[in-house]
Amino acid sequence: ASMSVVVEVEEKPKFDAGKAALLVKELRKSFNAGRTRSFEWRVRQLKSIEKMLEEKEKEITEALFKDLSKPGFEAFCEISQVKSSCKLALKELSRWMIPEKVKTSFTTYPSSAEIVSEPLGVVLIISAWNFPFLLSLDPVIGAISAGNAVVLKPSEIAPATSLLLSNFVEEYLDNSAIKVVEGAIDETTALLDQKWDGILYTGSAIVGRIVMAAAAVHLTPVTLELGGKCPAVVDSNSNLQVAVRRIIAGKWACNNGQACTGVDYIITTKEFAPNLIHSLRIELEKFFGKDPLKSKDISRIVSSFHFARLVKLLDEDKVSNKVVFGGQRDEKQLKIAPTILLDVPDDALIMQEEIFGPLVPILTVENLEDSIEVINSKPKPLAAYLFTNDEQLKKAFVQNISSGGMLINDTIIHVVVDGLPFGGVGESGMGSYHGKFSFDAFSHKKAVLYRSFDGDASVRYPPYTPEKQKL
Ligand code: NAD
Repeated sequence: ASMSVVVEVEEKPKFDAGKAALLVKELRKSFNAGRTRSFEWRVRQLKSIEKMLEEKEKEITEALFKDLSKPGFEAFCEISQVKSSCKLALKELSRWMIPEKVKTSFTTYPSSAEIVSEPLGVVLIISAWNFPFLLSLDPVIGAISAGNAVVLKPSEIAPATSLLLSNFVEEYLDNSAIKVVEGAIDETTALLDQKWDGILYTGSAIVGRIVMAAAAVHLTPVTLELGGKCPAVVDSNSNLQVAVRRIIAGKWACNNGQACTGVDYIITTKEFAPNLIHSLRIELEKFFGKDPLKSKDISRIVSSFHFARLVKLLDEDKVSNKVVFGGQRDEKQLKIAPTILLDVPDDALIMQEEIFGPLVPILTVENLEDSIEVINSKPKPLAAYLFTNDEQLKKAFVQNISSGGMLINDTIIHVVVDGLPFGGVGESGMGSYHGKFSFDAFSHKKAVLYRSFDGDASVRYPPYTPEKQKL
């Protein structure tokens, strides 16, 4: 007789709306009991994150490699940014928590007033796959600093990092107030059905709309960290080699273009384009060799879905003959080489959607000033970059272009300046975080006025005689 072996696969119990409700209930209990409010609790959690970063650097680097073939150096930068956020929060927290005294008015005399930062309550953080470690923990640091209970939902598209975050939070942090829920659309939907006191979402604008609609049901405030097409304008009056190296750093050497602040397209003059392309070729070859598909210093495309999406942008009929550099791909390894395109038509897919990969179209204009109109004709980007020595042009750029952030003569690194808020405007998002802005993003600014029983002017009380109005 034939024997059949039944292999029982143990299925993970499904995380549904019922489970999500229980989770929020548990965290709310901790929050309401005041567990997360004390300065000491916040510091303890932040110190544990610091300890975890020290102890687990290798595992984190490995997970980032599994998810994205992220080069070691880029993983190091990602981890370092979390470290510095944590360090800053630990250094500044006591100052951030001090109520801010404000002036009072004559009408309230005698009185004093202050703005008290209070935690929002129980908050949800939903993060993206491209910097899966940073984009998860950086907001968590803000939420903890501000004294909230928090649920983190990392991206399922970076599964190794998602699992690691789940394990680390369990091991290092206070699980009665800080939890990770792993999962994709179903799990996120179950979470979004709950009443939260704040949501910070990082990802695409399409899902941003879903998050905001779900939040509207409970009047939950949202911070939406979205993306968009970030332009880089290159003037002939600039140090071309430095400009080009920094464009490469902000495009291919940053997750192979899979970055929200990555350079999406370049604008230069018709006249200058050949010089720019020439210089890009030279520097790209220096950085990634003659066969960039073999370079260890460049991330792969995150998934076959995104690989196919990028190939579609590149192979569109009206685009495929515009490639002036690169274009090689390796489907098995999910690698696409740095690729430059010149003068693609504006109705091409590649100019309609955020590229989020190693392709860069160069658009040309007659005068560089025209670039302002080109940029303003599109949805507001998360970042806008300009390379020039021309002070007038810098001024015109800053005054006339609306974008989440702006960086003159470099790319991307404005995000490491703690004093600058990081966030979008319009299609690129709303609200911001980083440094003190993270604390503020997860705090309610409570207006508190202290009066004494003195100065009780009878003029404000009825009966309202005509004499009182004359005063
Ligand atoms: P995504 O929108 O696909 O996914 C982000 C998160 O949303 C994930 O956690 C995912 O599980 C969840 N999600 C996906 N579909 C959902 C649905 N239907 N309902 C509920 N939740 C859902 O975005 P992505 O592909 O992970 O990230 C790429 C986008 O994010 C780009 O537009 C990029 O510019 C932007 N981004 C912005 C920043 C920033 O800091 N501003 C950082 C990184 C990425």
